[in-house]
Amino acid sequence: MRLTEREIRIGAPAKVNLVLRVLDRRPDGYHNLWSLMQTVGLEDDLRLRLRTDSVGLRLHCDDPALPTDGRNLVSRAVALVLERAGLSAGRKVGFEIHIAKRIPVSAGLGGGSSDAAATIAGLNHLLELGWSAGEMARVGQGLGSDVPFFFFGPSAVVRGRGDEVAPMTLTGKRWVVLVHPGFPIDTRWAYERLSTTRKGIVPLSKALSGIAEKTALSWEDVIPFMENDFEVALAPTHRMLRDIKAELISAGAEAALLSGSGATVFGVFRDEASAVRAQGSVGQARGRRAFAVRGEGDTLSCRADMSQSLRVG
Ligand code: ATP
Repeated sequence: MRLTEREIRIGAPAKVNLVLRVLDRRPDGYHNLWSLMQTVGLEDDLRLRLRTDSVGLRLHCDDPALPTDGRNLVSRAVALVLERAGLSAGRKVGFEIHIAKRIPVSAGLGGGSSDAAATIAGLNHLLELGWSAGEMARVGQGLGSDVPFFFFGPSAVVRGRGDEVAPMTLTGKRWVVLVHPGFPIDTRWAYERLSTTRKGIVPLSKALSGIAEKTALSWEDVIPFMENDFEVALAPTHRMLRDIKAELISAGAEAALLSGSGATVFGVFRDEASAVRAQGSVGQARGRRAFAVRGEGDTLSCRADMSQSLRVG
């Protein structure tokens, strides 16, 4: 195979969990999850250049708080792809990757996982590997439980430890206001809080099990079922999350919920104008960052591939 030097851009969308149930702990230490996940219109922007004149990865990120060495999920994704493709040794292939970070970090929005998924999709394209979405999901699943979802967005029911993904169609249009309170929540810590605070595991309701059988749902169907097990677990230590939720509802949200293990709280709005108003009012408190975005983000997609376009999922 002859590789040619070229560059692509990929938008890596954030996700929210419209439902997040944390079920039993598995023998491997992870929890079984049940989640309805949705990409939203806030994206990191990745530029990936394949170089044939150098080896290794040169990674740049405009957020100085993130490492650009082997700890970055993008670096780990590159290493995994090269290993799986049998290109780790000997072959003269290098990459230069620029991450423009827009998604708040450690915020329950899956930004690192989305960057990793975008990297796998981008390398699959640049190296002409021909992997399917399922194959890419298998390569990425060890990097984080949210990674497989991004290959099947914009909407999917995700189960197991994040590796069982059933895409679905969410009909209708909504806007989402993401409110980041200004502090991160460490996912591992949030799971510990959940284990120590709850008395037992509430089994999955029949209604949610029923949702999983469907291939299409409307926002109206989903809104009454929105819930997140981390909300109760984090309420005693993070009062502000409840405050933001109440403020979003007062600002006209049809529903508001914590995303992932926090700390972002999001509200669902019928139209752009009310979302933008809520962004202005709820987001103005000191330290907060708020985004009014479309309730349906793109799937991973190349924006400006000089040669051809790519879409997965
Ligand atoms: P998770 O629940 O998987 O932790 P999250 O959405 O809460 O997801 P992320 O923004 O994905 O949080 O970041 C989680 C951790 O991953 C942080 O500690 C961060 O330093 C690390 N990380 C590594 N690479 C990246 C990246 N490219 N973007 C964001 N975070 C990254």
